[in-house]
Formats: sequence, structure tokens, C-alpha cells
Amino acid sequence: MASRVYFLSWKRRNELYNFLKSAMIFNHVEARNFIAIKVHFGEEGNKGYIKPEYISQVVKITREKNAYPFLTDASTIYVGKRSDAYHHLLIANKHGFTIEKCGCPVIIADGLIGNTEENIEVNLKHFKTVAIAREIYNADRLIFISHFKGHEITGFGGTLKNIGMGCGSKAGKYAMHHLSKPTIDQKLCMGCGACVKHCYQEALSLANKKVVMDTEKCVGCGQCIVNCLFKVFELKWNEDPPAVQEKIIEYAVGVLKDKKSAYINFLNHISKYCDCFSLAQNESLMDDVGIVAGIDPVAVDQASYDLVNKAFGKNFFKGIYPEIDSTTQLKYAEELGLGTRDYELIKY
Ligand code: SF4
Ligand code: SF4
Repeated sequence: MASRVYFLSWKRRNELYNFLKSAMIFNHVEARNFIAIKVHFGEEGNKGYIKPEYISQVVKITREKNAYPFLTDASTIYVGKRSDAYHHLLIANKHGFTIEKCGCPVIIADGLIGNTEENIEVNLKHFKTVAIAREIYNADRLIFISHFKGHEITGFGGTLKNIGMGCGSKAGKYAMHHLSKPTIDQKLCMGCGACVKHCYQEALSLANKKVVMDTEKCVGCGQCIVNCLFKVFELKWNEDPPAVQEKIIEYAVGVLKDKKSAYINFLNHISKYCDCFSLAQNESLMDDVGIVAGIDPVAVDQASYDLVNKAFGKNFFKGIYPEIDSTTQLKYAEELGLGTRDYELIKY
């Protein structure tokens, strides 16, 4: 059976509150529930993250139900501004995620240094258990607010990635990224050092003006791929991205186990790279489309994927990442019972 997916065009984004109320996707929220609202606070310098003015509308609806909402995210595995709770809270505050603006507190879900986790049994192809940030696990209900855009490893990133990768503790993120270490073609290296500067793991260095990698230190974050202008770094596209996508979905199964959730995708500032990048060139590549909401995470991502491609006039994601079949995540999520790719789009 098709899942209902609700759509608000970007030009009517000021009607977000009424749109969400009419979609009735928050029926799972009850009084005195702790509601984890999973967002991305944006790496320093990034412009694509979903702004507090929109997040606050979701908070408002949950508070009207006398629930206890909090905004949350988990630590990154690269050493940026979000790799521990202390710095994560500072950047969230800097980007405007304050109680005054959003109407609720921020709680980093996997603790001070990213090791506060809960191991959930899933018994799937890649993982028997998954390591989930504990405050996501502890919350009574979940709401995912995701920025739908390109992604350097999964082709696109939306709800499913926000659930699976986004809710993994540090150990969980390591496990998902495990295979995605790039290879190096030293012949192409110009010795400029840009990758060394952006590798927060200190896995890269220059020797005789050529880059070398300490694979033990590499966590597969992809920063070097994005920051090298000379295409020195490459992922084994036919092997790694499908496995990473499947791992993310297996994590999503663990996160959503025994939980009631709702999902909202923002199809605006549709960039090539994710919001973990602060690159000046991480600009929007097409017109903003709108906001998609529902209670089926697969249908919400499938509808978002279709809406972006339709607005672009051809397959946007194939265009920016021809080597990646980004629909692997949708197919595998459907196969594992997270939802259906079959949806009915209801326009507001
Ligand atoms: S950014 Fe590219 S060209 Fe520059 S040092 Fe690194 S690998 Fe070499
Ligand atoms: S070598 Fe590249 S992929 Fe590995 S940690 Fe450094 S920046 Fe990330």
C-alpha cells in the first residue's frame, strides 16, 4: 500500500506550521514524552543546515502537546567542530540553536566524547548489533528534520542517512565508514597540501612533495576527496558506497526499533556535498523545491528524490555522482521493512 507523503512548496515555506499541523504527522507525540528532534547543526562555515526559524515550528507543535522536546545530534568521527559535545554545543549556539530561538534545549546524544551509546540487536547482513547514541535511544519519540542534498559517499543524503549515520555513536560511525577509505594516485599529486590541512585525523602528510596516507588513522570521512582539486583521491565506487549505504540502513533499523517517529525533509540549498563540509563551493546547484513530510522514512526520501529530479529536469544525483547508485539505500530500506517506495504525494 502506498504511504502518504505531504508536500509544501518552497515559496509557501512561511506556512510550515499550518502545513505540519494539517499533515498530522505528530500524532505519535503525547504529553510528557521526551521528544528527540534529530537535526544537523552545520559544520562551521556551512550554509546548508536547516535554520532554527524552521526547527522552532516543529518544537512549537510538540510543546503544544505538553511534550518535552530537545534538539539533538551525535558526534562526528572527524576532528571538526562537532566531534565532542563541548564544541558541538558551541557551534550549535553560534548557528542560532538557542532556547530563545528554538524553544527547547540542545542535548548531544552520545555524551561528552561520543562514547555514550546503546548496543541494539539487529542481526542483519553487516551487523549483529548497532551502536546508537544513547539519548536517541532514551527518547520516547523521534522526529527527524533532514536537509535533502547530494552526498559524497551515498549520492544523496536525507532522512534515511540522518537516521542511520546521524544517530550512530562514534564507534557506530567508524563501523559504517569502515570500508570507505580512499585510494591515492600519487602521480596526480601537486604537493599543494590542501588535503593535509583538511584531514582532521592527521592521516595525511607530504613526503617528497607527494601525499601519503596512514590508513590506520583514516576514518573514511571524505574530506580529502572533496578538498583535492587534482582528483588524487578515489573511492572504489563499485564496492564501497553500496556497502556503506546498506550499513547505514541497518543502523536505521536499530534506531527505529520499537520507536514511533516522524520525518521532515527540506529540499532547499541542494548542494553537491553534505553539511559536514564548510567549503565555500558547497553552494546550492538548483532552485529550492520545498518541504516533504510523513511517517514513512522510505517514502519521504523516495518522494524527495523524485521531486528534486523532476524540478531539475533530469536525474540531479546521477549528474553529480555518476559512479554511485544512490537508490541502494531506498531499496535496502524497503527490503528490511522500514517503509515503502510507493507513495501518494499530497500537496498542501
Ligand atoms: S590536495 Fe591533492 S594535490 Fe594537493 S597535496 Fe593533497 S593530494 Fe596532492
Ligand atoms: S585521509 Fe581523507 S578520508 Fe581519511 S580521514 Fe583524512 S580526510 Fe578523511
